Amino acid sequence: MNTVNTPTSLIDLHIHLPGTVRATTLADLAAKNGVELPLPAEELYTRINSSPTEEEQGRGPWFPLLRVYELISQSLRDRDDFSRTVFEALEDAKNNSDVAYAELAFSPSEHIKAGVAYPEMVAGIEEGFARARTELGVDGRALAAVNREDTAEVAVDMVRTVAQHPSDAIPGIGLDFYELGGMPEKFVDAFRLAGEAGLKRTAHAGEHAPTAQTVETALDVLGCDRIDHGYQILRDPRIVERCAEAGVLFNVAFTTSRRSLIQWRRESIAGMVEAGLRVTINSDDPALFPTTLKREMEIADEVLGERRAWLVNNSVDATFLDTDAKKALRAKVLS
Ligand SMILES: [Zn+2]
Repeated sequence: MNTVNTPTSLIDLHIHLPGTVRATTLADLAAKNGVELPLPAEELYTRINSSPTEEEQGRGPWFPLLRVYELISQSLRDRDDFSRTVFEALEDAKNNSDVAYAELAFSPSEHIKAGVAYPEMVAGIEEGFARARTELGVDGRALAAVNREDTAEVAVDMVRTVAQHPSDAIPGIGLDFYELGGMPEKFVDAFRLAGEAGLKRTAHAGEHAPTAQTVETALDVLGCDRIDHGYQILRDPRIVERCAEAGVLFNVAFTTSRRSLIQWRRESIAGMVEAGLRVTINSDDPALFPTTLKREMEIADEVLGERRAWLVNNSVDATFLDTDAKKALRAKVLS
């Protein structure tokens, strides 16, 4: 499909900060901040499985991804914790997958619940990115994600807080956690506020809810600039067609919290590309799932054929960088 240059490095746009925290770092931070883990961190990570099969259930205990995600979030308490985890996320992304640029989602409301002031998070995140730029030559941004299991009011408060503390390190917001826990319509006010504040917008949609409608709602009602996941869009050819025509970008990932590849995910991503949709390949939670962006790209080679230049070019377009920064990034990763 694409004969232009092979990418020299990769971009990861769907990656959750708690999902990058090394087990050794979680052990340190939980001990430092008095968070009790149900198992030692290394062991806990091997026991993440959001929907164990009947056969797996006998080999429990298993912990749902989002439960572990909450424990990790609660373990980040001060500026140093944010700085360290942001830096280590980019260090691992570079060392494991040669990532040149990443956008890390974090959940301010989870940290606010644990008593962390938002400006403290921002200061740590800015410091982590600055260190990564200087020491690793890797660039990054963070996205403040609404936890869709929160109320609409909590989401509005969170976005207001983000808007009151603008930072070049945090150009946008997201919407994550379990999709059926909060349909996109619920967050119309929070997303409108973000748009008014000049923040870019993305949302997990078409992941768990068995309908294409959430993708359309995320675009039309929430004003999203891109979509995370989106597999269920294939249920409605009309929505597929309008997204293909408009060149909507979908940040997809092959590996899930079931610790394994689910065949339908592969088939869905292949189907999306066949239908003319633009996708980018991402790692989601590389410290918690047995994957890396490098591995996800290898799966993409198998499933989609060799089209890395197209995929990475899509990633550049999907970033929340301004036009000049996109141009510089494109020159860096596709030179
Ligand atoms: Zn995700």
